[in-house]
Amino acid sequence: RLEIKNLVRHFDGRRVVDDVSLQIRAGQVTCLLGPSGCGKSTTLRMIAGVEMQDTGEIWVDGKLVCDTVFRVPPERREIGLMFQDFALFPHLSVADNVAFGLHGGSKAEKRARVEELLTRVHLINHIDDYPHQLSGGEQQRVALARALAPRPKIMLMDEPFSGLDNRLRDGIRDETLALLKEEDTAVLLVTHEPEEAMRMADEIALMRSGRIVQQGAPYNVYTRPVDRAAVAFFSDIN
Ligand code: ATP
Ligand code: MG
Repeated sequence: RLEIKNLVRHFDGRRVVDDVSLQIRAGQVTCLLGPSGCGKSTTLRMIAGVEMQDTGEIWVDGKLVCDTVFRVPPERREIGLMFQDFALFPHLSVADNVAFGLHGGSKAEKRARVEELLTRVHLINHIDDYPHQLSGGEQQRVALARALAPRPKIMLMDEPFSGLDNRLRDGIRDETLALLKEEDTAVLLVTHEPEEAMRMADEIALMRSGRIVQQGAPYNVYTRPVDRAAVAFFSDIN
């Protein structure tokens, strides 16, 4: 369970993230949805720990992970990351890519986890392949398996499907969703596409100019937009 409280971040004197608070429960997908430049990625990077907030707090499972004086380093936050440029390691096999984040445990245990995940993303036949031998969609699924392998409590995804062509995208979205639910991960998915949020989210947090202007179930956010700007933003859906 992820909780962020009153996150603020300035760049060049501009408030890019302006008092953002959010809670995400295990097994739930929250979409941070908003136009380009509204501060989505910056918010995600602060949660991941690769960017520092000016003020505000981040909590994971009731434990403080970061405030203005205390900071758990990114690799110890039990947070999985999947970004648009999800780049697999080209010199590692599919199996080794997925095993990359697995520390501790025996060799056999690691292998079992890798095989389990690759089976679930339907790539067990490609376990000994290298990334260049896979299609874009297949690489995406390996990236998902890699991110989930260490059983992160929180999964942060920044436009993870935007590099895929339309034909592949729907299938991979659904598959990703199913896998995330099975793993009972709390997911924060960033997107600027209302359609993607409507499809994936249990909850939508609508962001504009660094602030969350509306939050709720997709149906409610869509049918009861908070203002004209929200209507205009959602009218992109077809
Ligand atoms: P997009 O949908 O285009 O990815 P976003 O909502 O993810 O947009 P951010 O990347 O969070 O937006 O950026 C928010 C604002 O902060 C933008 O105006 C951006 O130019 C600015 N910004 C982000 N990172 C930096 C930085 N390192 N230095 C200066 N300004 C930055
Ligand atoms: Mg972004």
